Amino acid sequence: MKSLLPLIALCFTMPALAEVPVVGDGKALAVIVTADHPGQVAKYAAEELAYHVEKATGVRLSIVTESTVPLAMESRVFIGDCAASREAGLRTDEMAAEAFALKTKGKSLIITGNDGGGDPLDSSTRAGTLWGVYEWLERELHVRWLWPGETGTYVPKTATVTAHDVDETTPPRFIQRKLRPGLGFESEHPALGFTKEAAEQYAHDQTVFLRRHRMGRSYPMGYGHAFVDWWKKDGKEHPEWFQLRDNGKRGPSKATGRFSMCVSSPGLQQEIVNRWAAKKGKATGGPSFVNACENDILGQCTCDQCRAWDGVPPADYLKYYSPSSKMTGSRFVSDRYAHFWLSVQQQAAKVDPNAVVIGYVYFNYFQAPVTGIKLNPDILLGYCPSGGFFPRSADEHEWMKKQWTGWADTGARLFMRTNHLLDGYCMPYIFAHQFADEFHHAVKHGMVGTDYDSLTGHWATQGPNLYVAVRLHTQPEASADELLAEYYAAFGKAAPMVKECFDYWEKYTTSLREKQSKVMEEMKASRWRSWATAAHVLYPTEAFVPAESFLANAAKAVAGDPESAARVKFLQQGLDHAKLCSRVSAQLTTAAPKANADETKALLVELINYRRSVEKTGISNFNHLAWMEDLSWKLSDETRKTPDLYP
Ligand SMILES: [Zn+2]
Repeated sequence: MKSLLPLIALCFTMPALAEVPVVGDGKALAVIVTADHPGQVAKYAAEELAYHVEKATGVRLSIVTESTVPLAMESRVFIGDCAASREAGLRTDEMAAEAFALKTKGKSLIITGNDGGGDPLDSSTRAGTLWGVYEWLERELHVRWLWPGETGTYVPKTATVTAHDVDETTPPRFIQRKLRPGLGFESEHPALGFTKEAAEQYAHDQTVFLRRHRMGRSYPMGYGHAFVDWWKKDGKEHPEWFQLRDNGKRGPSKATGRFSMCVSSPGLQQEIVNRWAAKKGKATGGPSFVNACENDILGQCTCDQCRAWDGVPPADYLKYYSPSSKMTGSRFVSDRYAHFWLSVQQQAAKVDPNAVVIGYVYFNYFQAPVTGIKLNPDILLGYCPSGGFFPRSADEHEWMKKQWTGWADTGARLFMRTNHLLDGYCMPYIFAHQFADEFHHAVKHGMVGTDYDSLTGHWATQGPNLYVAVRLHTQPEASADELLAEYYAAFGKAAPMVKECFDYWEKYTTSLREKQSKVMEEMKASRWRSWATAAHVLYPTEAFVPAESFLANAAKAVAGDPESAARVKFLQQGLDHAKLCSRVSAQLTTAAPKANADETKALLVELINYRRSVEKTGISNFNHLAWMEDLSWKLSDETRKTPDLYP
């Protein structure tokens, strides 16, 4: 009996803990409270909370510090590390990196987390408190961020906000969550891109949006093609570190050409460890990353030792690459690179047991190894296929997933480092379901992070892809349909028509698969660099007709609902713009340009004028388009002028 007593007492006290009134009947019932000297993250998190609560209720909560809490206000929402959170036993410095805690206690809700110093919008700043605020907004207010900016911010209206009983501490699911933001695209024809002011607004809105989806990282992970400048610096003294070519010479075939390394070279492995050790600084208890990503080229060393590490190429080694791929005729070297990473990791572990070696599985070392080599969790591999763009055939999709599982089975940890989001230009190019399936497969087989290259930002035409991509980072088990249902719900009564529209495009995109490969091959267009060469062939203006009709019905359905109507209009603008781009592509494609100089000039002025009229809506990243169109179209010299001066 004795042991039951505390339990009974707990049950009786539970109801009293359950609810913290925040807003009721159009009145503020709580204040937001920070420490007297809050960190930048906590300060920003408090503002984000007040902003969204006001959007939901029309009521602005005051933000005060612990020494200035008005006594009359009984309910309090404490944000960030402060005296109240410590008193409640929440030690943010002892939490996992970027973890957040949500806790109700009496008439208080405490949201705090493991924060770093620095700008809360910087993706390297740990922002546990901010993650806690966003999690709470999603759960209690059902806030959804569909795309960057005001129209994409969906906050259901309510008269009452209550914090329900909660007590949990949660770290992020992935140590790094990243869609490269695509804000650095530059063009020789900048007039096709954003004006300076619009570019700044776009960048700001997108940065805010990505943080709302908790993009960031727990540790400063440094990686990328690691040996790009090594030949220049070390080629003379240590030629043995570099690839041996068929002619018996070491290094690149042209003085400035790319080269791979002789990864079996013990001297090279030692030097990688030495350079990391010299720079790594004091041990922090966290992982220390050793960059061992091969240069941006196939693994090419022909020396006996490198070759001795290679396995027998699987029968399907080149099955899914096009004949013009760099992979054609290449040697299968995955096992060689697995040996390399293992050797580097074993040597680095002697210097620091927290050493983690990062490599890319890429090009001819992308397919899973075949010799049964065992790696370990201190080897972190970026999954970076050089083909495999969406949509894939069912068997190609399975093949791609099999390579992930094969590498995961070695015992290494994996992160997603694909280039597939660069595809599709600004067309309504939809592959949300297949994308989600790959993500789910990776999560089930040990994915610890992501680094997608890149977010091209065509929010109005590719919204379902992008929403699913960002949302999976915090809801990794949710199905594509569940996530898309959230997205469509934000269109009010137009939800069924918007769904019809994107279902149409996903089916269209899927049916395009074989034609696309053929057309891109014939037109010598690259999926990620010059897709606009083929836009008019793959998305001719007649393909837009059914979608326009779905959106026209959508607009009618929400005629009395300005917020949903604004979202439908956003999609319509995206579609109008994409159709115009298809029309321009038909005239200016480098594959067979048709327009004369005057026609070219007139078409480009029409396109630029349209872009200027919508550039602050955030429908598309026009700087990405200017970059790609420069590589896809025969342009006029006028468009070399800056967008603030032309037309
Ligand atoms: Zn070699």
